[in-house]
Amino acid sequence: MRRYIIPLLLCLCLLAGCDTARAPNEENDQSDTVELMAMDTFMRVTAYGEHREAAELAKDEITALEALLSVTDEGSEIYAANHAGGKSVALSDDTAALLERALALCESTGGALDVTIYPVVRAWGFTTDKFRVPEADELAELLERVDYTRVSLEGNTLTLPAGVELDLGAVAKGYAGDRVAALLREQGVENALLELGGNIHTVGSKPDGSLWRVAVTDPAGDGYAGVVEVADKAVVTSGGYERYFEQHGETYWHIIDPATGYPARTGLQSVTIVAEEGVKCDALSTALFVMGPEKAEKFWRETGGFDFILLTGGGEIVITEGIEDSFSPYGAWIDQSPTVLRR
Ligand code: AMP
Ligand code: MG
Repeated sequence: MRRYIIPLLLCLCLLAGCDTARAPNEENDQSDTVELMAMDTFMRVTAYGEHREAAELAKDEITALEALLSVTDEGSEIYAANHAGGKSVALSDDTAALLERALALCESTGGALDVTIYPVVRAWGFTTDKFRVPEADELAELLERVDYTRVSLEGNTLTLPAGVELDLGAVAKGYAGDRVAALLREQGVENALLELGGNIHTVGSKPDGSLWRVAVTDPAGDGYAGVVEVADKAVVTSGGYERYFEQHGETYWHIIDPATGYPARTGLQSVTIVAEEGVKCDALSTALFVMGPEKAEKFWRETGGFDFILLTGGGEIVITEGIEDSFSPYGAWIDQSPTVLRR
């Protein structure tokens, strides 16, 4: 269902990018943009000011990360780890850093995020687009291989028990956002917009000093459900509408509950996370979708350090207090007054 990804990105660009293009501050209107297909999606990095070299470095960084992290590319480190047959492999610093962070997020989310979900994701056909509904027995067997606590990472040395396979698809784009944002800052870029599929990562404010306006896609339509205004933040959405297939009148999507092996059906249409760290936003958008609204609220109360926008199956919007003043419903959702969670 890849065709849904581009419209999602365009939705985000319309609000985030085009607003910027119309920014009145003429002297800052100069920008350098790179575009590429990577990590199974369309990506665009726009650095404001004269930063051609930085933009090209950003493109190289994303390409290099994809080459390390892809689960299907036979030359990637993840592919090598998944085919090592129980032997240890040496990881690059980037892969090790991402995996270490991802494992910590698997732990803190109580396994709602589980980076060893790959055997199950593959059985559903989500990595190949050869979709199928696996039998319950098959899923039960595959789930025996899903357990992030069996991943051993000592420094850069990774050991996976035979049969355990990694899929960093829930966190790789978020990590790429963090790396590219850091690289651009090192290169002296003060204002940049990273559109990495459905992940948005902002460096600084818009060039005119105002906040970026990032759209949250309407899961049921072509437009947006809301707009959140941010600076120096990542905004990452996970939703069942992003990749799915239908069979016998039932819809099956790509976000899997590691407890059951089936697509997570928790009464949510999408989860958007707003925080500084892209990899955290990416991990939590997937994990909170798996948790569902009640557990997501509990998790937020217990851990904090991020804000969320939940679009529920019943058409309600639930947001956390940190974005109360920066979020506005939009389009078909404009008449909703969000429920605001407070500590
Ligand atoms: P995202 O689009 O960031 O929510 O990530 C979804 C992708 O992560 C899927 O396409 C799978 O490759 C993988 N995935 C699905 N469910 C999980 C899960 N519960 N934990 C970790 N990765 C998952
Ligand atoms: Mg994610």
